[in-house]
Amino acid sequence: MEIKIHPVSETPRAEIEEKKKDPGFGRVFSDRMFRCRWSEEKGWHDPEIVPYGPITLDPAANVLHYGQEVFEGLKAYAWEDGRVALFRPEKNGERIDNSARRLCIPPVGPELWLEAIETLVDLERAWIPADGKGSLYIRPTIIGDEPGLGVSASNSYLFYIIVGPAGPYFPSGFKPVKIYIQKKYVRAAVGGIGFAKTSGNYAASLLPGKIAKEKGCAQVLYLDAREFKHIEELGGMNVMCLFGNTLTTPPLDGSILPGVTRDSIMTLARDMGYEVEERSISVDEIRAGARTGELKEMFAVGTAAVVTSIGTLLIEDEDVVIGDGGVGDAARSFYDRLTGIQFGRLPDPFGWTRIVPEKRKG
Ligand SMILES: *Cc1c(COP(=O)(O)O)cnc(C)c1O
Repeated sequence: MEIKIHPVSETPRAEIEEKKKDPGFGRVFSDRMFRCRWSEEKGWHDPEIVPYGPITLDPAANVLHYGQEVFEGLKAYAWEDGRVALFRPEKNGERIDNSARRLCIPPVGPELWLEAIETLVDLERAWIPADGKGSLYIRPTIIGDEPGLGVSASNSYLFYIIVGPAGPYFPSGFKPVKIYIQKKYVRAAVGGIGFAKTSGNYAASLLPGKIAKEKGCAQVLYLDAREFKHIEELGGMNVMCLFGNTLTTPPLDGSILPGVTRDSIMTLARDMGYEVEERSISVDEIRAGARTGELKEMFAVGTAAVVTSIGTLLIEDEDVVIGDGGVGDAARSFYDRLTGIQFGRLPDPFGWTRIVPEKRKG
Protein backbone atom coordinates (compact mmCIF):
# COMPACT_ATOMS: atom_id res chain seq x y z
CA MET A 1 0.00 0.00 0.00
CA GLU A 2 1.34 3.42 -0.98
CA ILE A 3 1.49 5.80 1.98
CA LYS A 4 0.53 9.30 0.92
CA ILE A 5 2.77 11.93 2.53
CA HIS A 6 1.10 15.30 3.05
CA PRO A 7 3.05 18.53 3.57
CA VAL A 8 3.64 19.40 7.22
CA SER A 9 4.98 22.61 8.72
CA GLU A 10 8.06 21.48 10.67
CA THR A 11 9.15 22.71 14.07
CA PRO A 12 12.44 24.65 13.70
CA ARG A 13 15.53 22.51 14.47
CA ALA A 14 16.59 24.60 17.47
CA GLU A 15 13.17 24.18 19.04
CA ILE A 16 13.25 20.41 18.48
CA GLU A 17 16.68 20.25 20.17
CA GLU A 18 15.23 22.18 23.12
CA LYS A 19 12.23 19.81 23.36
CA LYS A 20 14.50 16.75 23.26
CA LYS A 21 16.55 17.90 26.25
CA ASP A 22 14.27 16.73 29.03
CA PRO A 23 11.26 15.20 27.29
CA GLY A 24 10.13 12.90 30.12
CA PHE A 25 7.67 10.29 28.85
CA GLY A 26 4.61 10.78 26.65
CA ARG A 27 4.49 14.56 26.86
CA VAL A 28 6.23 15.72 23.68
CA PHE A 29 5.01 14.68 20.24
CA SER A 30 6.51 15.21 16.80
CA ASP A 31 5.09 17.14 13.81
CA ARG A 32 3.53 14.23 11.96
CA MET A 33 1.28 11.26 12.53
CA PHE A 34 0.32 8.22 10.49
CA ARG A 35 -3.29 7.40 9.88
CA CYS A 36 -5.27 4.80 7.97
CA ARG A 37 -8.93 3.81 7.87
CA TRP A 38 -10.80 0.51 7.68
CA SER A 39 -14.19 -0.15 6.16
CA GLU A 40 -16.07 -3.31 5.30
CA GLU A 41 -15.80 -2.64 1.55
CA LYS A 42 -12.17 -1.51 1.36
CA GLY A 43 -10.45 -3.12 4.37
CA TRP A 44 -7.46 -1.02 5.50
CA HIS A 45 -7.11 1.83 3.01
CA ASP A 46 -5.79 5.34 2.38
CA PRO A 47 -2.70 5.23 4.61
CA GLU A 48 -1.23 8.70 4.96
CA ILE A 49 1.15 10.89 6.93
CA VAL A 50 -0.57 14.06 8.13
CA PRO A 51 0.21 16.85 10.61
CA TYR A 52 -0.02 15.76 14.27
CA GLY A 53 -3.27 17.03 15.69
CA PRO A 54 -6.68 16.33 17.20
CA ILE A 55 -8.95 13.71 15.66
CA THR A 56 -12.67 14.19 15.30
CA LEU A 57 -14.98 11.52 16.68
CA ASP A 58 -18.73 11.21 16.78
CA PRO A 59 -19.80 11.44 20.46
CA ALA A 60 -21.46 8.02 20.02
CA ALA A 61 -18.27 6.39 18.64
CA ASN A 62 -17.84 2.81 19.89
CA VAL A 63 -14.42 3.43 21.48
CA LEU A 64 -15.79 6.16 23.74
CA HIS A 65 -18.48 3.91 25.24
CA TYR A 66 -17.45 0.29 24.87
CA GLY A 67 -13.68 0.60 24.72
CA GLN A 68 -12.99 -1.02 21.36
CA GLU A 69 -9.31 -0.07 21.29
CA VAL A 70 -5.89 -1.70 21.09
CA PHE A 71 -2.48 -0.08 21.22
CA GLU A 72 1.24 -0.78 21.16
CA GLY A 73 4.42 0.74 22.55
CA LEU A 74 7.88 0.44 21.04
CA LYS A 75 10.93 2.60 20.48
CA ALA A 76 13.33 3.80 17.80
CA TYR A 77 16.97 4.27 18.84
CA ALA A 78 19.52 6.66 17.33
CA TRP A 79 22.84 4.83 16.98
CA GLU A 80 26.18 6.53 17.33
CA ASP A 81 26.92 5.96 13.62
CA GLY A 82 23.82 7.95 12.67
CA ARG A 83 21.59 5.01 11.81
CA VAL A 84 18.19 4.53 13.43
CA ALA A 85 17.03 1.12 14.66
CA LEU A 86 13.79 -0.46 15.79
CA PHE A 87 13.80 -3.32 18.30
CA ARG A 88 11.82 -6.43 17.26
CA PRO A 89 8.99 -4.35 15.74
CA GLU A 90 7.49 -7.45 14.09
CA LYS A 91 6.77 -8.84 17.60
CA ASN A 92 4.67 -5.76 18.37
CA GLY A 93 2.95 -6.25 15.01
CA GLU A 94 2.00 -9.83 15.88
CA ARG A 95 0.83 -8.68 19.28
CA ILE A 96 -1.39 -5.84 18.09
CA ASP A 97 -3.06 -8.27 15.68
CA ASN A 98 -3.62 -10.78 18.53
CA SER A 99 -5.00 -7.99 20.72
CA ALA A 100 -7.16 -6.80 17.82
CA ARG A 101 -8.70 -10.24 17.21
CA ARG A 102 -9.76 -10.46 20.88
CA LEU A 103 -11.53 -7.12 20.57
CA CYS A 104 -13.14 -7.86 17.16
CA ILE A 105 -10.87 -5.30 15.50
CA PRO A 106 -9.55 -6.15 12.01
CA PRO A 107 -5.83 -7.04 12.15
CA VAL A 108 -3.36 -4.77 10.35
CA GLY A 109 -0.97 -7.44 9.02
CA PRO A 110 2.85 -7.29 9.05
CA GLU A 111 3.41 -5.32 5.79
CA LEU A 112 1.28 -2.27 6.58
CA TRP A 113 2.51 -2.38 10.18
CA LEU A 114 6.22 -2.14 9.33
CA GLU A 115 5.73 0.23 6.41
CA ALA A 116 3.71 2.65 8.55
CA ILE A 117 6.20 2.68 11.42
CA GLU A 118 9.28 2.93 9.23
CA THR A 119 7.84 5.72 7.08
CA LEU A 120 6.85 7.82 10.10
CA VAL A 121 10.12 7.23 11.99
CA ASP A 122 12.15 7.99 8.85
CA LEU A 123 10.38 11.35 8.50
CA GLU A 124 10.76 12.18 12.20
CA ARG A 125 14.46 11.36 12.63
CA ALA A 126 15.12 14.87 13.93
CA TRP A 127 12.98 14.07 17.00
CA ILE A 128 15.06 11.09 18.15
CA PRO A 129 17.33 11.92 21.08
CA ALA A 130 20.94 11.23 20.03
CA ASP A 131 22.47 11.06 23.53
CA GLY A 132 22.58 7.25 23.59
CA LYS A 133 20.01 7.20 26.42
CA GLY A 134 16.74 8.62 25.16
CA SER A 135 14.70 7.22 22.29
CA LEU A 136 11.69 7.91 20.11
CA TYR A 137 8.60 6.36 21.69
CA ILE A 138 6.15 4.99 19.12
CA ARG A 139 2.48 4.64 20.05
CA PRO A 140 0.29 2.88 17.46
CA THR A 141 -3.43 2.77 18.29
CA ILE A 142 -6.53 1.32 16.63
CA ILE A 143 -10.02 2.48 17.59
CA GLY A 144 -13.52 1.48 16.56
CA ASP A 145 -15.13 4.78 15.61
CA GLU A 146 -18.52 3.80 14.23
CA PRO A 147 -21.25 5.85 15.95
CA GLY A 148 -24.06 3.97 17.69
CA LEU A 149 -24.89 2.88 21.23
CA GLY A 150 -25.96 -0.66 20.43
CA VAL A 151 -23.34 -3.01 21.85
CA SER A 152 -21.60 -4.60 18.87
CA ALA A 153 -18.28 -4.38 17.05
CA SER A 154 -17.73 -1.21 15.07
CA ASN A 155 -17.96 -1.25 11.27
CA SER A 156 -15.24 1.36 10.85
CA TYR A 157 -11.80 1.75 12.37
CA LEU A 158 -9.03 4.30 12.61
CA PHE A 159 -5.41 3.14 12.93
CA TYR A 160 -3.02 5.93 13.83
CA ILE A 161 0.54 6.23 15.08
CA ILE A 162 2.04 9.08 17.07
CA VAL A 163 5.69 9.40 18.10
CA GLY A 164 7.68 11.58 20.47
CA PRO A 165 11.05 11.77 22.22
CA ALA A 166 11.32 9.96 25.55
CA GLY A 167 14.06 10.42 28.11
CA PRO A 168 15.57 7.58 30.12
CA TYR A 169 13.00 6.32 32.63
CA PHE A 170 15.29 6.96 35.61
CA PRO A 171 17.22 10.10 34.61
CA SER A 172 19.28 10.02 37.81
CA GLY A 173 20.21 6.36 37.38
CA PHE A 174 18.89 2.95 38.29
CA LYS A 175 16.79 3.05 41.46
CA PRO A 176 14.97 0.20 43.22
CA VAL A 177 11.23 0.64 43.71
CA LYS A 178 8.70 -0.51 46.29
CA ILE A 179 5.76 -2.48 44.93
CA TYR A 180 2.35 -3.17 46.48
CA ILE A 181 0.69 -6.60 46.61
CA GLN A 182 -2.96 -6.61 47.73
CA LYS A 183 -5.90 -8.98 47.66
CA LYS A 184 -8.78 -6.72 46.77
CA TYR A 185 -8.33 -5.74 43.11
CA VAL A 186 -7.27 -7.72 40.05
CA ARG A 187 -6.03 -6.45 36.71
CA ALA A 188 -7.31 -9.28 34.52
CA ALA A 189 -8.75 -12.78 34.69
CA VAL A 190 -8.09 -15.85 32.57
CA GLY A 191 -10.60 -15.73 29.72
CA GLY A 192 -10.75 -11.94 29.81
CA ILE A 193 -8.62 -9.41 27.95
CA GLY A 194 -5.45 -9.52 30.07
CA PHE A 195 -3.25 -10.75 27.22
CA ALA A 196 -4.44 -7.94 24.95
CA LYS A 197 -2.82 -4.52 25.03
CA THR A 198 -6.02 -2.56 25.40
CA SER A 199 -7.22 0.46 27.33
CA GLY A 200 -9.70 -1.47 29.51
CA ASN A 201 -6.91 -3.22 31.40
CA TYR A 202 -5.36 0.13 32.18
CA ALA A 203 -8.69 1.59 33.29
CA ALA A 204 -8.97 -1.31 35.76
CA SER A 205 -5.50 -0.53 37.14
CA LEU A 206 -5.99 3.16 37.90
CA LEU A 207 -7.68 2.85 41.30
CA PRO A 208 -5.32 0.18 42.71
CA GLY A 209 -2.42 2.22 41.28
CA LYS A 210 -3.63 5.28 43.15
CA ILE A 211 -3.94 3.33 46.40
CA ALA A 212 -0.40 1.97 45.91
CA LYS A 213 0.95 5.53 45.60
CA GLU A 214 -0.84 6.55 48.80
CA LYS A 215 1.01 3.69 50.50
CA GLY A 216 4.36 4.90 49.20
CA CYS A 217 4.62 2.26 46.46
CA ALA A 218 5.42 2.90 42.81
CA GLN A 219 2.99 0.34 41.41
CA VAL A 220 0.87 -2.75 42.06
CA LEU A 221 1.97 -6.33 41.43
CA TYR A 222 -1.31 -8.09 40.63
CA LEU A 223 -2.23 -11.58 41.77
CA ASP A 224 -4.26 -14.17 39.90
CA ALA A 225 -8.00 -13.50 39.91
CA ARG A 226 -9.01 -17.01 41.05
CA GLU A 227 -7.17 -17.47 44.32
CA PHE A 228 -5.15 -14.29 44.94
CA LYS A 229 -2.20 -16.61 45.45
CA HIS A 230 0.17 -16.31 42.50
CA ILE A 231 1.86 -13.21 41.10
CA GLU A 232 0.95 -12.14 37.57
CA GLU A 233 2.37 -8.79 36.48
CA LEU A 234 2.40 -5.05 37.16
CA GLY A 235 -0.05 -2.67 35.52
CA GLY A 236 2.25 -2.17 32.55
CA MET A 237 5.30 -4.39 33.08
CA ASN A 238 6.00 -8.11 33.44
CA VAL A 239 7.73 -9.43 36.54
CA MET A 240 10.71 -11.76 37.06
CA CYS A 241 12.26 -13.45 40.10
CA LEU A 242 15.79 -14.76 40.39
CA PHE A 243 15.72 -17.85 42.63
CA GLY A 244 19.32 -19.01 43.02
CA ASN A 245 20.57 -19.17 39.42
CA THR A 246 17.08 -19.61 37.93
CA LEU A 247 15.27 -16.74 36.30
CA THR A 248 11.59 -17.42 36.91
CA THR A 249 8.55 -15.66 35.47
CA PRO A 250 4.82 -16.43 35.46
CA PRO A 251 3.56 -18.30 32.37
CA LEU A 252 1.44 -16.69 29.65
CA ASP A 253 -1.91 -18.21 30.63
CA GLY A 254 -4.19 -15.60 29.07
CA SER A 255 -4.29 -12.98 31.81
CA ILE A 256 -0.70 -11.76 31.34
CA LEU A 257 0.54 -9.46 28.60
CA PRO A 258 3.21 -11.24 26.50
CA GLY A 259 5.95 -8.60 26.80
CA VAL A 260 8.65 -8.28 24.17
CA THR A 261 11.09 -7.30 26.93
CA ARG A 262 10.04 -10.39 28.93
CA ASP A 263 10.74 -12.64 25.94
CA SER A 264 14.04 -10.89 25.15
CA ILE A 265 15.35 -11.11 28.72
CA MET A 266 14.50 -14.82 28.94
CA THR A 267 16.55 -15.35 25.77
CA LEU A 268 19.45 -13.24 27.08
CA ALA A 269 19.35 -15.05 30.43
CA ARG A 270 19.75 -18.47 28.75
CA ASP A 271 22.60 -17.04 26.69
CA MET A 272 24.24 -15.70 29.86
CA GLY A 273 24.12 -19.07 31.67
CA TYR A 274 20.99 -18.73 33.78
CA GLU A 275 18.34 -21.41 34.02
CA VAL A 276 15.01 -20.01 32.84
CA GLU A 277 11.60 -21.17 34.04
CA GLU A 278 8.07 -20.10 33.22
CA ARG A 279 5.88 -21.26 36.09
CA SER A 280 3.44 -20.02 38.70
CA ILE A 281 5.08 -18.23 41.63
CA SER A 282 3.12 -17.92 44.87
CA VAL A 283 3.30 -15.03 47.28
CA ASP A 284 4.19 -17.55 50.01
CA GLU A 285 7.18 -18.71 47.97
CA ILE A 286 8.33 -15.12 47.55
CA ARG A 287 8.00 -14.39 51.27
CA ALA A 288 9.91 -17.57 52.17
CA GLY A 289 12.55 -17.01 49.46
CA ALA A 290 13.15 -13.46 50.66
CA ARG A 291 13.63 -14.77 54.21
CA THR A 292 16.07 -17.58 53.31
CA GLY A 293 17.91 -15.55 50.66
CA GLU A 294 17.01 -18.05 47.91
CA LEU A 295 15.09 -15.22 46.21
CA LYS A 296 18.02 -13.04 45.20
CA GLU A 297 16.37 -10.47 42.98
CA MET A 298 13.02 -9.37 41.70
CA PHE A 299 12.46 -6.93 38.88
CA ALA A 300 9.87 -5.59 36.47
CA VAL A 301 10.50 -5.51 32.72
CA GLY A 302 8.95 -3.54 29.85
CA THR A 303 9.80 -1.25 26.94
CA ALA A 304 9.44 2.04 28.84
CA ALA A 305 11.87 1.41 31.74
CA VAL A 306 13.51 -1.79 30.35
CA VAL A 307 14.38 -3.25 33.79
CA THR A 308 13.27 -1.89 37.19
CA SER A 309 14.58 -3.50 40.36
CA ILE A 310 12.04 -4.25 43.07
CA GLY A 311 13.81 -3.52 46.36
CA THR A 312 10.85 -4.01 48.68
CA LEU A 313 7.38 -5.50 48.47
CA LEU A 314 4.53 -4.27 50.59
CA ILE A 315 2.47 -7.47 50.94
CA GLU A 316 -0.84 -6.19 52.34
CA ASP A 317 0.68 -4.46 55.39
CA GLU A 318 3.97 -6.32 55.70
CA ASP A 319 7.26 -5.01 54.25
CA VAL A 320 9.32 -7.75 52.57
CA VAL A 321 12.82 -6.76 51.48
CA ILE A 322 14.23 -8.55 48.42
CA GLY A 323 17.97 -9.30 48.57
CA ASP A 324 19.66 -6.28 50.11
CA GLY A 325 16.84 -4.01 48.94
CA GLY A 326 19.02 -2.48 46.24
CA VAL A 327 19.61 -3.01 42.54
CA GLY A 328 20.67 -6.58 41.84
CA ASP A 329 23.59 -7.64 39.64
CA ALA A 330 21.40 -9.68 37.31
CA ALA A 331 18.93 -6.82 36.81
CA ARG A 332 21.78 -4.50 35.99
CA SER A 333 23.43 -6.92 33.59
CA PHE A 334 20.14 -7.58 31.72
CA TYR A 335 19.59 -3.85 31.49
CA ASP A 336 23.11 -3.22 30.17
CA ARG A 337 23.00 -6.07 27.66
CA LEU A 338 19.53 -5.26 26.32
CA THR A 339 20.08 -1.50 26.00
CA GLY A 340 23.52 -2.24 24.53
CA ILE A 341 21.86 -4.21 21.72
CA GLN A 342 19.09 -1.65 21.25
CA PHE A 343 21.57 1.21 20.84
CA GLY A 344 23.91 -0.77 18.58
CA ARG A 345 26.73 -0.75 21.14
CA LEU A 346 26.79 -4.54 21.55
CA PRO A 347 26.56 -7.36 18.99
CA ASP A 348 23.03 -8.52 18.13
CA PRO A 349 23.33 -12.33 17.82
CA PHE A 350 19.55 -12.77 17.80
CA GLY A 351 18.83 -10.45 14.87
CA TRP A 352 16.57 -8.25 16.98
CA THR A 353 17.40 -4.82 15.61
CA ARG A 354 16.01 -3.52 12.34
CA ILE A 355 17.59 -0.49 10.69
CA VAL A 356 15.05 2.07 9.43
CA PRO A 357 15.70 2.63 5.71
CA GLU A 358 16.47 6.20 4.67
CA LYS A 359 13.96 7.12 2.01
CA ARG A 360 13.99 10.81 2.48
CA LYS A 361 17.23 12.52 3.50
CA GLY A 362 16.36 14.65 6.54
C1 LIG B 1 3.07 -3.27 27.29
C2 LIG B 1 2.91 -4.06 28.53
C3 LIG B 1 3.95 -4.83 29.08
C4 LIG B 1 5.36 -4.82 28.56
O1 LIG B 1 5.47 -5.24 27.24
P1 LIG B 1 6.79 -4.87 26.41
O2 LIG B 1 6.50 -5.43 25.07
O3 LIG B 1 7.92 -5.52 27.08
O4 LIG B 1 6.89 -3.39 26.43
C5 LIG B 1 3.68 -5.60 30.20
N1 LIG B 1 2.45 -5.60 30.77
C6 LIG B 1 1.44 -4.85 30.28
C7 LIG B 1 0.13 -4.91 30.96
C8 LIG B 1 1.63 -4.06 29.16
O5 LIG B 1 0.62 -3.33 28.69
